[in-house]
Amino acid sequence: MSQFELAEPKSLSEALSLLDRHDPAIRPIGGGTALMLMMKAQIFKPIRLVSLRHLGAPFKGLSLSEDGSHLLVGAMTTFSELEHSPLVQMHHPVVVKTMRTLANVRVRNVATVGGNLAHGDPHLDLPPVWTALAAAVRVVSRTGERVIPVEDIFAGYYETTISDGELIAELRVPVRPTWRSIYVKVTTRATHDWPALGIAVSAEFVGMRVQDLRIVLSAALDKPTRLVAAEQALRGQDLDERSLVRAGDAAVAEVDIETDSRGSAAYKTHLLRVHLARAIQSIAGA
Ligand SMILES: Cc1cc2nc3c(=O)[nH]c(=O)nc-3n(C[C@H](O)[C@H](O)[C@H](O)COP(=O)(O)OP(=O)(O)OC[C@H]3O[C@@H](n4cnc5c(N)ncnc54)[C@H](O)[C@@H]3O)c2cc1C
Repeated sequence: MSQFELAEPKSLSEALSLLDRHDPAIRPIGGGTALMLMMKAQIFKPIRLVSLRHLGAPFKGLSLSEDGSHLLVGAMTTFSELEHSPLVQMHHPVVVKTMRTLANVRVRNVATVGGNLAHGDPHLDLPPVWTALAAAVRVVSRTGERVIPVEDIFAGYYETTISDGELIAELRVPVRPTWRSIYVKVTTRATHDWPALGIAVSAEFVGMRVQDLRIVLSAALDKPTRLVAAEQALRGQDLDERSLVRAGDAAVAEVDIETDSRGSAAYKTHLLRVHLARAIQSIAGA
C-alpha cells in the first residue's frame, strides 16, 4: 500500500475543507471496508483519507424527525446499529432482516450507511431497499446542501452523482405505516454471499388490491433500478395470477439484464420472474 495522510477532523467545516472536489485521490472514509480492499488491490491510491468518525450530528444518530414522518439515519451509523435499533425494527423491519444475510458481523460492525451508498457497487443489498422505501440523502458541501432521492445517487457501475467535494450526511426514510416491504436476496452459493439478484418491493394494499408500490432490481444491471413498467402493471390492480404474470412480463421487458460471475442473463431473467411474483405475494398476504 502506498503512503497517504489520514486526517481526523473534529468538525464538519474542517472535514469539508480537507476534501477537494477536483482530486479523486482525496476521499472521505466511513467504515473503510470497501476502501481498504481497493487500496490493498492497488485499484485506489489515496493521497489523503478524511475520516468522518469524529463528526457528530447529523452524521451520527438514529432518530425520528420531530413530526414523526421520517426515520433519520446518520451517515456514520453502522450496519450493526441499524440491525439492533428498536426504531428501525418498529418502522422498517425489512432493513433489520436485510442485515441478517449481509456480509458478516465484523463487516457489519464497521461498515456505514453513508459509505455503502457512496460506494456505488450495484451488488450491494441496502441501496435497493432504501430506494423501495423512497428514502433520500442529505448531502453537504462547502457551498451548501442538497437532498437527493436515493434512486438518483447511482449513475452506473461504481459511479454516483455525489461529487468529490460532497459528503452524505444523513439518510431520511419516510415512515409509512400502511406500507409493507420485502427484500429478496437470491444467492447461488452461501446465504451471506453477494446476490445473483436482489429484489426490493414496498407496497400498500387495500385487501388484495395494490394501491401503490415501488419495485427495485439490483445485482443484475449497472445500478439499482426501479422497475416502473412492472409497477405500472400492478398499480390499482387486484393481485392475482394474471396481474402477477403481466408484472413479470413487464419487468423482464424493461431491463437488459447482464451476465456476471453469479449467473447468466437468462438465468437472472428467470429468477426475476419467479422471485418478483413470490415477493409481492408474500407481503400481500402478510
Ligand atoms: C468481506 C466482505 C463481505 C461483504 N459482503 C456484502 C454483502 O453480502 N452485501 C452487501 O451489500 N455488501 C457487502 N459488503 C460490502 C459492504 O457493504 C461495503 O463495503 C460497505 O457498505 C461500505 O461501507 P464503508 O462505510 O465501509 O465504506 P468505506 O469503505 O469507508 O467507503 C466506501 C466509499 O464511500 C465513500 N464514502 C464513505 N463515507 C462517505 C460519506 N459519508 N459521504 C460520501 N462518501 C463517503 C468513500 O470515499 C468510498 O469511496 C461486504 C464487504 C466485505 C469486506
